[in-house]
Amino acid sequence: MTHAKTAELLRKPELSNEDIVFLLGLRDPESCRLLQEAAFARTTELMGNCVYYRGLIELSNICTASCRYCGIRRENHDVKRYTMSKEEIVAAAVWAARSGYGSVCLQAGERRDEKFIAFIEECLIEIHKATVSSVLPQGVGVTLSLGEQTPETYRRWAKAAGCPESLRYLARFETSNPELFKVLHGARGDHEKQLEHRFRLLADLREAGYQTGTGVMIGIPGQTLEDLCRDIRTFQNLDVDMIGMGPYLMSEGGELQDFGQMDPEALMQLSLNMIAVTRLVMGPVNIAAATALQAIRDDGREIGIEYGANVVMPNLSPQQYRAGYQLYDNKPCLDDEPTQCASCLEKRIASRGRRVGWNMTGSSRRWLRRNGRPDEAEPAGGLRVGQNDAGRKTIWIRAG
Ligand code: SF4
Repeated sequence: MTHAKTAELLRKPELSNEDIVFLLGLRDPESCRLLQEAAFARTTELMGNCVYYRGLIELSNICTASCRYCGIRRENHDVKRYTMSKEEIVAAAVWAARSGYGSVCLQAGERRDEKFIAFIEECLIEIHKATVSSVLPQGVGVTLSLGEQTPETYRRWAKAAGCPESLRYLARFETSNPELFKVLHGARGDHEKQLEHRFRLLADLREAGYQTGTGVMIGIPGQTLEDLCRDIRTFQNLDVDMIGMGPYLMSEGGELQDFGQMDPEALMQLSLNMIAVTRLVMGPVNIAAATALQAIRDDGREIGIEYGANVVMPNLSPQQYRAGYQLYDNKPCLDDEPTQCASCLEKRIASRGRRVGWNMTGSSRRWLRRNGRPDEAEPAGGLRVGQNDAGRKTIWIRAG
């Protein structure tokens, strides 16, 4: 019986590769429920009851790379390109800090020119200046997702961000299978992607003081359960602090349409299994419930939380830019205002037995322990801390 074997594996202190492959392939509802309950309980034990918000600011869709799956790759000339102004970026970060989000994520296509590097540096300096308060003494936490850069650039941005306790960088390697990686990143030239570079940059980021995050796509055409198992082992070998994984979804603007994509229901379950098994193997890391889960099912992110995710990334990009930042098709919440998004999401999270970690910077506990820091205290239930327009005075407001 599959569920009897599942229960037996979930009692083991360590999972073998064979066990991982078995758990990733679960489809019957009873076994999936056992996996979900084990992952949720492990998350509560290791990470507490809070889900951390990272306010996502998609600051530019200009990209010099050409990942074949991506809707905003360089060769897609049908996309209207944009870059938010410094004022818009800082305003979105300040809104996040004042609304109780402990951190923001600045994301954009990949650019390595000095103009862009200096622009990001200026934005980070301004964000830090505008968000330091008694509630956030180092300012709002910052996660960068700005592609492959040089070690010097990582150091410049780290210094500008001014928040060494809550400074993070996300760089997904997408798949640890070199053949699949080539299929996804076939472009030639200066910006050709190589798997070894992705691994190297994670080491560079750690040296520069960042909490490091990586991740993969689930359900890439041709990907096997063994590939996904190797991805999890790679997370372990890289000793990463944060993981962001999403289902592989086709993009009209990409060039892989001929390969098709998995049946949505199977893709959803595989993605959830991957989150759960990653939680069981990796322990106290931050795992994001990807917005792409919501593109398959309206409550996709909440189910991701039930399966062991503890981070969500509400979109703070101004509405006029959102349609231009579609890495995959059917991206959800294109028309929602940030205020709508935050309260809708808070209710959705509460419906799954978790609460929002208002004003928590939400550092990975794996990182905190590696660096001899205590766990961050969870806020009192039902209340959150906000700031008035001066950005300094702390007031208490009732959440929801
Ligand atoms: S995945 Fe990132 S680096 Fe690759 S084309 Fe899309 S935006 Fe550019």
